This record gives sequence, C-alpha cells and structure tokens, in this order.
Amino acid sequence: MLSAYISHPDCVKHEMGHMHPESPERIGAIHDMLLIKGLIDCMQTCEAPLATEQQLAQAHSIPYIHSIASMAPTEGYVRVDPDTMMNPYTYQAALHAAGAAVLATDLVIAGKASTAFCNVRPPGHHAEYDAAGGFCFFNNVAVGIRHALNVYGLARIALIDFDVHHGNGSEDIFHADERVLICSTFEDKIYPFSGNQPRGKNMVNVALPSRSGSEAFRAAVTEKWLPALETFKPEMIFISAGFDGHREDDMGNLGLVENDYAWVTQRIVEVARHHANGRIVSCLEGGYELSPLARAAAAHVKVLIGVDC
Ligand SMILES: [Zn+2]
Repeated sequence: MLSAYISHPDCVKHEMGHMHPESPERIGAIHDMLLIKGLIDCMQTCEAPLATEQQLAQAHSIPYIHSIASMAPTEGYVRVDPDTMMNPYTYQAALHAAGAAVLATDLVIAGKASTAFCNVRPPGHHAEYDAAGGFCFFNNVAVGIRHALNVYGLARIALIDFDVHHGNGSEDIFHADERVLICSTFEDKIYPFSGNQPRGKNMVNVALPSRSGSEAFRAAVTEKWLPALETFKPEMIFISAGFDGHREDDMGNLGLVENDYAWVTQRIVEVARHHANGRIVSCLEGGYELSPLARAAAAHVKVLIGVDC
C-alpha cells in the first residue's frame, strides 16, 4: 500500500507580498525535491478537497469561520494580523489545506494509504479556536484530528509538533481535550512566546534554548516525548511538520539538520507501528529557506513512507 501525497494548485495562489517568508515557492521546492529523489513515484498523488464548514467547525467557532470568509478581498490584500494577510485566493487555499488533512485522515483510517504527507499552505498550527495568526488561518492538523475523533470515533490521538515555533493554536484547541496528547519541541523566547507553561495536562512541551542543537532536540524526544507516547498509546499520530528549526533557516536558531528530521520521523514511525497500526498523517507547517526546507522535508517523507530511495 502506498503512502499519500496530498496538495492542491490553489495552495500556490495564496501569497502575502514578495518579501513575505511564507512564500508560494515553498510548495514547489518540496514537490521538486520529492520528485528528484524518486519519492513521489513511491506515493499516490491526491488533490486536496475543500474542507466543509462542518469539518472546520470541529476545530474553530462558526463566527470565526464566517469572519475569515467575509474578510477575503476581491483584489489586493487584507491584513489579519501583523504577519498574516489574505489575498483573493487565500480563503480557497486555506479550505484546501484543511481539506488535505481531512482527506489524509480518511485515506489512512480506511486503509487506502499507509501514511500521508500534506504539502499544503497556508500552515495551521498558530490558528486558534477563534483567531488567525502567525501565517495561519485554519488549524489543518486540528481539523484532521477532530475528524478522526468525531467521525471515526478514535479515542486517543497524538499530535507531534517539531516546528521551531510553539503551536499555540493547537494548544488552544486541544488543551481541554484529553483524547489528544500533544508532544512538542520549540525554541524558547521566540514567537509566539508561549508554551513554557502548558495549558493542559495533555501536553508535553519542551522549550529548547536558542542554539541548543541536535543533541538537545534528540534528548527531548527520547526523554520527554517517547515515555509519554508509550503511556498514552495513540491510535493514530498527526505531525505538525515544520522545518524552520533547520540550521540554514533564519526563522529560528535550533541548529537542526536533515538527519534530525529523519531521526525524529523514525521514532514517530516506531511508535505508530507499535500502537497505531502505523497510521500517521503529516502536514507541512513552517520552513522558509527553500533549499533546507526541501531537503529536510524529503528526509522526513522518505522515512514516513518507508522507502529506501
Ligand atoms: Zn514555525
């Protein structure tokens, strides 16, 4: 059974100005690298559907969903927060990005795909229950997780977030939902300046000091995440896959390299095989320097799909 590769052409039409780091080129950089490495050939390619309002409402308030829809401009840009803007294509792109997580969930739970990688933007993990921010509008993984919980009746889902930034949106959505365990690492004292004090008992937050490097990252995973995951026994795992902790990415200073992303993905795959029938859905979050983004994402996907290309 092949893993799924899910994206949509509209994800490239959303843009926030030429100087904005969350650029449309991110999608093509990852796609091209997966193609060059022969990884796409080992996957089934799927087009992301639009998430429905009912699906979005599993993770966001209806008034918030309507407010994002109503803010969409017909030309130019509308600023949603200091870092986050909508152009005329943003709303459709955001619906497809969340829809990708829903389709990935459907395919993996139905046994039609072993795992899935969603190469989509806008990203999602800073989007809260009723607030956009940090380049995010809808929390894609959160929509997928609630779909798995509420439509398929799964009881325990782990969300792994290795983006360099704390996933404040995911924490906001899941802090009172003990069906979900969030394990995250992030760089301390950078945007969004949260995470040091977890908002719920169902989260393992590890703030890593600037420049702490591969060793500290791997120690956090081994000593903090893995014991919690063993106890929790997730039935499915979602990944907020942000690659902005790479040492060549100026957005953070954790100093990670491709091998770290391959290594952490292998640890996640092992937990998934042990407890979750191997079920993993991974959604792109950050990663802004195109070359290291593409290399790190390819290292991640190669392990995720279990191919020795
Ligand atoms: Zn990030």
